[in-house]
Amino acid sequence: MSPATFPTDWSTALVLVAHPDDPEYGMAAAVARWTSEGKRVVYALATSGEVGIEGMPAETAGPLREGEQIASAAVVGVEEVEFWGFPDSQVVNSPELRAKVTEVIERVQPEIILCTYGGPGWGPDRPNQRDHIEFAAAVIDAYDELPGVTAQFFWNGPAPTHAVDVTGFTESAVESLACHRVYLEVLDPETPVIDQARAQVQWSTAPIDGFDAADASGFELIRPK
Ligand SMILES: [Zn+2]
Repeated sequence: MSPATFPTDWSTALVLVAHPDDPEYGMAAAVARWTSEGKRVVYALATSGEVGIEGMPAETAGPLREGEQIASAAVVGVEEVEFWGFPDSQVVNSPELRAKVTEVIERVQPEIILCTYGGPGWGPDRPNQRDHIEFAAAVIDAYDELPGVTAQFFWNGPAPTHAVDVTGFTESAVESLACHRVYLEVLDPETPVIDQARAQVQWSTAPIDGFDAADASGFELIRPK
């Protein structure tokens, strides 16, 4: 089925993710477009990704990754970034995490909620991470238990129901992802950071069947309002 055009009649979106770099893997081009149109986008991260850099102690990696995330957000016009301090690689759908999700939804009052994909994987060779699955489950449970919530809730999974034309915004997304410089340098020392970032953004903004745009970001509607 062809994806519909992503809603445009809103002013505030809340992006909920598990780790630094999660917003950049798939959402940053759309975010760049939205902020260029004057919309407010807020990032909230469950962890600081402190065990994500091999060979670097958590107490060094956490602050470093927070700094990279804040820089990365600024490139696409996001000035509000918060870190909740849950332990990286041990994210669970706990009452504490659900309470935090509820609190941020009530405080930010978004009309759109975007979460990282919480299903099993994007394909046979691209399985999802456990932290992402647990985190998305916590967001769904918190959303379902919150009385009066009116936000439309999407995630960026492999079966998009809606899409955003991001033509003209992919270079901002590349620059944004490339701000995770130390993380990407350690992840793949052989490939320059900018090339890693460009390859990822090209993959995540490839044309979508049935949606007329050279570059597109897809989102799956999980909960209509
Ligand atoms: Zn992640």
